[in-house]
Amino acid sequence: MRWLRPLAVTALCASIAACSTSPTGRSQLLLMSDSELNEMGRQAFTQYQQELPTAGQASHRYVQCIADAIVAVLPAAQQQLDWQIRVFESEQPNAFALPGGYMGVNTGMLDIATSQDQLASVVGHEIGHVLANHANERASTKSATSLGLSVISSTSGMQSAGGQQLMGVLGMGAQYGIVLPFSRAHESEADVIGLNLMAQAGFDPRESVTLWENMQAASGGGAPPEWMSTHPGQGQRIQGLQGNMDQALAIYEQARSNGRTPNCPRP
Ligand SMILES: [Zn+2]
Repeated sequence: MRWLRPLAVTALCASIAACSTSPTGRSQLLLMSDSELNEMGRQAFTQYQQELPTAGQASHRYVQCIADAIVAVLPAAQQQLDWQIRVFESEQPNAFALPGGYMGVNTGMLDIATSQDQLASVVGHEIGHVLANHANERASTKSATSLGLSVISSTSGMQSAGGQQLMGVLGMGAQYGIVLPFSRAHESEADVIGLNLMAQAGFDPRESVTLWENMQAASGGGAPPEWMSTHPGQGQRIQGLQGNMDQALAIYEQARSNGRTPNCPRP
């Protein structure tokens, strides 16, 4: 059954011009322009900043240091984006990266990602979603286009039904009760891209597995963290990461010997 979906997209891609290939070679239907997506990202980022207070300088320096190291190894086209990262004061362990280069990490995530390498795996994964145009792909599905895309030309704001749908498409809808989990295909793709990015930047890719173990431990007591509710399938995640670990470790060793040895002190 796994071939059904790719085949459908491939058939569709033969007939229209809105198709692309993701960094790992999947056929993608992308109906929106980069400028539309970047505008969606900007709107969502503005909204997030209005809703949550920004954390102190020490946390910001720490997260910025990690983000800088990863952005430095992005493909040239993506480095042209004005990547920005903010740390938000919230116990919810959440993190995101949006089209246009807008990134955020909640302080709750800093409690779960207990080393620079673990946090680098979160940031790398989120940037992976952006590099692979996942928001565009989600927005290009039938359900999203019929429900939400009017928001692009709408001035009704993010609290409107369309605005909340947009946050859902971007993977940021949990605070509105709109959880649109990233698909398993998107998750494993972001995992692979993120793993390679963190390794290229000189962060230990093995720590991505520890991060997921910490996530599981954190969800043991009560409700699962928001980031987990939008990032399903944690059992298979670890398997997938480990399946790509040999290659990531080779990249990591190479990066370290080339002098990529990030040192971002955790506050
Ligand atoms: Zn994800």
